[in-house]
Amino acid sequence: MKILCYGENSEWIKYSRIIIDKLGGYPYCVTPSRELAEESSKYFEETYFFNGGVYEPSKYCRAILEVAGRIFPDVSLFPSTIKGRTIAGLYAGARDESIITDIVDVDHEDSVLKLKRLVYGGSCIATIKSTLPATLCITPGTQKPPETSRKGSIEELRISLENRITVSLNPRVGGGPPLEKSDLVVAAGRGFKNREDLEMVRELVSLTVNSAWSVTRPLAAEYGWADNWIGISGVTVNPRIYLAVGVSGQPLHMVGARNSKIIIAINKDPNAPISQEADYFIVGDLYKILPKLIEKIKTTKTSST
Ligand SMILES: Cc1cc2nc3c(=O)[nH]c(=O)nc-3n(C[C@H](O)[C@H](O)[C@H](O)COP(=O)(O)OP(=O)(O)OC[C@H]3O[C@@H](n4cnc5c(N)ncnc54)[C@H](O)[C@@H]3O)c2cc1C
Repeated sequence: MKILCYGENSEWIKYSRIIIDKLGGYPYCVTPSRELAEESSKYFEETYFFNGGVYEPSKYCRAILEVAGRIFPDVSLFPSTIKGRTIAGLYAGARDESIITDIVDVDHEDSVLKLKRLVYGGSCIATIKSTLPATLCITPGTQKPPETSRKGSIEELRISLENRITVSLNPRVGGGPPLEKSDLVVAAGRGFKNREDLEMVRELVSLTVNSAWSVTRPLAAEYGWADNWIGISGVTVNPRIYLAVGVSGQPLHMVGARNSKIIIAINKDPNAPISQEADYFIVGDLYKILPKLIEKIKTTKTSST
């Protein structure tokens, strides 16, 4: 079985090797930079790279299709991230093969894949059988494969990859580390009445090291108060502390936060579903609790300097 993997980032490259070993195939990787190719060569026998530059799904897809056209993969692996799924959709469409997303486990029997994916907001696991070839989007995990002294080959793809669309980038207000790499993630929910009130969340995050904030889907997708959200259709996080403020804890949200080491929730409803998932559940009005928490952190910081 030939397996082609899109190496979106180094964490995923490492994790994908575990998936490849489970499937037992010969692995190829395509990365959007030389730097990632160097990382990939420690885990993959053959790596191809292209100079991705500004992210544009159809451009990235063309590069991966170029490699697929050379090796004819049986399985193509993508991370089940927003970018990964977008490229995978274009890729599977171009190759006219099935695509299965949000996979949490893989297995195979002869040439039939047996895949597990979370459904109904993560409350059930569906087992799906698929014939080959197939495009799979895997939910990235945190385990790493054992260290090896592997040094696979690296080849630069010398193909024309001009952008077909023009992209202009505006830096995000607030910045900070990416959600997926933060130790503390603060999530704001519909308990916040106005967009301006999210200033409390920004302030809290600015006072704590390696932290980031996001929201539930309604705040981003319906109100436009943020450009990303946490959950099944958004970002998956696994910080040391997940602080959910004014978030009810619906399953479609919690799928993206359940891997956090400690979940703390502030909610005025003692029966909110998140009370069943939180390690620490604070019942009260966020408009009273957040200012006190911010004040407390400020005082502690001042007295310790
Ligand atoms: C196909 C599909 C995909 C979806 N994907 C996602 C997803 O990826 N991520 C996601 O988040 N959602 C997703 N949703 C939506 C999801 O089902 C919920 O509707 C959403 O998560 C609820 O957001 P919320 O907790 O902010 O709002 P609500 O459910 O309205 O909860 C607000 C909470 O705030 C509390 N509260 C109110 N005022 C205060 C106060 N002053 N102080 C303290 N607490 C207060 C309330 O008690 C309540 O528990 C999806 C829905 C669909 C249909």
